[in-house]
Amino acid sequence: MITFHQVHKHFGRLHVLKDINLTIGQGEVVVVVGPSGSGKSTLLRCINKLETISEGELTALGVRLSDKKADINKLRRDIGMVFQHFHLYPHMTVLDNITLAPIQVLGMKKADAQDAARYLLAKVGIPEKAESYPSQLSGGQQQRVAIARGLAMKPKVMLFDEPTSALDPEMIGEVLDVMKTLAREGMTMVVVTHEMGFAREVAHRIIFMDEGRIIEESEPEAFFTNPREARAKLFLSRVI
Ligand code: ADP
Ligand code: MG
Repeated sequence: MITFHQVHKHFGRLHVLKDINLTIGQGEVVVVVGPSGSGKSTLLRCINKLETISEGELTALGVRLSDKKADINKLRRDIGMVFQHFHLYPHMTVLDNITLAPIQVLGMKKADAQDAARYLLAKVGIPEKAESYPSQLSGGQQQRVAIARGLAMKPKVMLFDEPTSALDPEMIGEVLDVMKTLAREGMTMVVVTHEMGFAREVAHRIIFMDEGRIIEESEPEAFFTNPREARAKLFLSRVI
């Protein structure tokens, strides 16, 4: 689904991704961990071309992102992204937040989009919130709306960038539970998170990044019980 081949990314003189090689297959759940500033968000944002790579080759869903003829809008429809902050439209109801893109971008009929949205709200555990406004919801509920909104586009891949980092501790579990369900259903997911319990339970693979490089790539059990790299050991000793 996604292939990085010798990818580099610079912001001016700052070299933030260094020789990234990574392949993510259909149905895989890959969790990206590493210290702040190591390039995790940039790696994720390159996948739907929110950032442009400087060098190398990046392919997502069969599209070469450096190809000038690549249909980036189509790619972004197929790749959902959930951020740390929820980015819901404050002046729109939950239902309107979720149905906006399906109606305007996919051309769905309003009634069909609303049916789909209500189904997704039930799936994320808040069917009763359809007519609420974001400000009337807790952070955990808002993030679940953001996930439902992403799913409403029927994406082939979901990217999550620290989706629980802005939440109060008691709300983290409800968001992780939704993500676990998605993973079990076979969604291809790339997740940046500091939630090591989630990573250990759900990930097929852990990618550890430091200073723009992938330092270690392991199965969760191996990563958590016996990280090969000293920097990964140090990181784990700090976050667990
Ligand atoms: P992480 O998500 O692991 O914390 P980021 O990918 O956000 O790391 O950032 C990696 C490095 O790139 C950091 O040094 C950050 O300051 C820098 N950076 C990120 N985005 C930009 C940008 N738009 N312009 C300049 N520097 C950036
Ligand atoms: Mg980040």
